[in-house]
Amino acid sequence: MAEKTSAAKAAIPSAVKGMNDILPPESARWEWLESQVRELMARYAYRNIRTPILEQTALFVRGIGEVTDIVEKEMYSFEDRLNGEALTLRPENTASVVRAVTEHSMLYDGGKRLWYMGPMFRHERPQRGRYRQFHQIGAEALGFAGPDVDGELILLAQSLWKMLGLADVRLELNSLGQPAERAQHRAALVAHFESQADVLDEEAKRRLHTNPLRILDTKNPAMKELVEAAPRLIDFLGAESLAHFDGVRAILEANGIAYTINPRLVRGLDYYNLTVFEFVTDRLGSQGTVCGGGRYDDLIAQIGGKPAPAVGWAMGVERVLELLKEQGVSTPAPVPDVYAVVPDAAAVPTALLTLGQLRDCGVRAQMHAATADGLGSFKSQFKKADASGAAYALIFGADELRRGEVTVKSLRDGSGTQAPRSLANVATWAATLQSPAPQD
Ligand code: ATP
Ligand code: MG
Repeated sequence: MAEKTSAAKAAIPSAVKGMNDILPPESARWEWLESQVRELMARYAYRNIRTPILEQTALFVRGIGEVTDIVEKEMYSFEDRLNGEALTLRPENTASVVRAVTEHSMLYDGGKRLWYMGPMFRHERPQRGRYRQFHQIGAEALGFAGPDVDGELILLAQSLWKMLGLADVRLELNSLGQPAERAQHRAALVAHFESQADVLDEEAKRRLHTNPLRILDTKNPAMKELVEAAPRLIDFLGAESLAHFDGVRAILEANGIAYTINPRLVRGLDYYNLTVFEFVTDRLGSQGTVCGGGRYDDLIAQIGGKPAPAVGWAMGVERVLELLKEQGVSTPAPVPDVYAVVPDAAAVPTALLTLGQLRDCGVRAQMHAATADGLGSFKSQFKKADASGAAYALIFGADELRRGEVTVKSLRDGSGTQAPRSLANVATWAATLQSPAPQD
């Protein structure tokens, strides 16, 4: 067969638009954030839950609501070729958590505090802070009715900002009341918008009778005045809803958490009631919401479970990482403690044995590896040792090995000091090689 010309070569496959590879060194920032979150969730006694990435489409349609942005236009839905099931890549994780909690009767012995992290999928226009595969960390408290857990969840998010060293995130709070209160408000809202129907844009007209609350969410400046003059839901709340709202506010105030009440905060999903909140920043342009959540007391019943109250939030990992970068917060850089220099291939087995013993002691050790051209010169290996960021080079030279030793050479303190160490008792000197993690 004739050889193909290079023009006929297949194009290099690329990632799906809006779905990003997370590569080193960036991935180390993700790992760091995840480890901080794990630690914090343990401190708040929230337990990890992992649900499948794929669910039946009906779960999200029922759980998120038919006339939401997500269900109307953002879901990756398809038919399973083998059995015709309608499936969807999860666009968020609350519906799945509720499904799992219900399916496994997790609330039989009382409320549960859960957290998750992982990829979510929404078909949106990719831009800074908005992707088609993105990641959320979320916390959900199910089976608890009072404002205390609402407060706890907000404190949890606030603790995370503090732990990460994030500033410039502010809390916006609102109450959506109960369905009956919302129905009254909705009627007043529709009347208000209908009275000035000529100002409404196409989207608002469409929403007027499906989901008029969402009109308040509009980004159209031409409708700003109309929206600002709209009846406020908070004025329709009854005594019980107001008491719940006051309960949350008292917790925030006692804990020194600043917040503003935003009567136009309605959140994009259908399932919320009472408390809703967002953490927002001005430093990420129009993708400024880093975390959003609220109470969803009707969702469990809506999905078919025994009615139980619940509240939770989800934060966008990409946006939090972007904000950390924006604010110059440095994170631990993943560099090895030592780099093994092996001038001769004969030293490789001993070098690997020694590195294994060091690793057993907790030392981060990088082995020099051969390329197609072999191990390379002593000098080029040292260059690699230096570039690795390791604090020490371990030199497995033939002379050293004959004496049962390895040379430990300092790479970072400028002294270039080197000293022999015995290969017979690696564990006794391993700890001297461990340095505190440098920052990136
Ligand atoms: P937005 O108004 O920005 O579209 P949303 O209301 O759709 O946000 P939620 O469903 O509440 O967002 O998700 C919680 C968080 O997840 C958001 O506050 C945001 O930080 C993040 N998030 C949502 N969609 C995306 C996306 N497409 N890309 C990156 N992060 C996202
Ligand atoms: Mg959205």
